[in-house]
Amino acid sequence: MRSIDDNLQAVRQRIERAAQAAGRDPGGVTLVAVSKTHPAPLMAEARAAGQRAFGENYLQEAVEKMDHLRDASLEWHLVGPLQSNKTRAVAARFDWVHSVDSEKLARRLSQARQDAQPPLNVLIQVNVSGEASKSGVAPGAVPALAAAVAALPRLKLRGLMAIPEPGAGAGRYRALKALFDALVPLGADTLSVGMSDDMELAIAEGSTMLRVGTAIFGARVRKPEAVACAGGPRGAAKARA
Ligand SMILES: *Cc1c(COP(=O)(O)O)cnc(C)c1O
Repeated sequence: MRSIDDNLQAVRQRIERAAQAAGRDPGGVTLVAVSKTHPAPLMAEARAAGQRAFGENYLQEAVEKMDHLRDASLEWHLVGPLQSNKTRAVAARFDWVHSVDSEKLARRLSQARQDAQPPLNVLIQVNVSGEASKSGVAPGAVPALAAAVAALPRLKLRGLMAIPEPGAGAGRYRALKALFDALVPLGADTLSVGMSDDMELAIAEGSTMLRVGTAIFGARVRKPEAVACAGGPRGAAKARA
């Protein structure tokens, strides 16, 4: 079996090759290791291999791992759906939230973020695939929500997150990049798109942040309480069907 260290090296190589092929600096692509359903000791292996940014989908699971790893040098990203009754804990414990899709959620996060903390980094989740996913705002709603987030005192608008449907063509990624470019005057610098299966395409089309789980940690074993989201949008679609 390959180790987490081997997997991380392979992913970094994929990033380097894809960036080179696109004429981009590999340093302009941040790797978030999505560790949902995987135990803290595996995350510690990734940390030992130099990984600092981790993505989680479930608040309770994430908090347990934060308390277990106790490492201020780690950066925690909430990449899963955000419920409004969790905003206080999320604002207290995470460094980034990728799934803001309403002004109400943004306002609650800003109110809950403490003055002693740096502003919470926020990405607006865009639903670029229509009905294939229920999370995220429609592309047309992005500019107004981005302006609202940028105006909130304890949030920092960083950009956009999206999960193109499996097999989506380059056009989807280009439309996302165009939406993102329009936010650069508001201070946006991060386009979070690309997972284990579409990293190369995402990098070719301008992604600056990848969220990679399977290629680093291996296949996820589904936990009963996590079934609806454990497989990402595909799992959610199946659970609803
Ligand atoms: C699980 C998940 C990922 C990682 O997906 P892989 O295909 O395992 O790389 C990325 N983003 C989100 C939002 C996820 O829920």
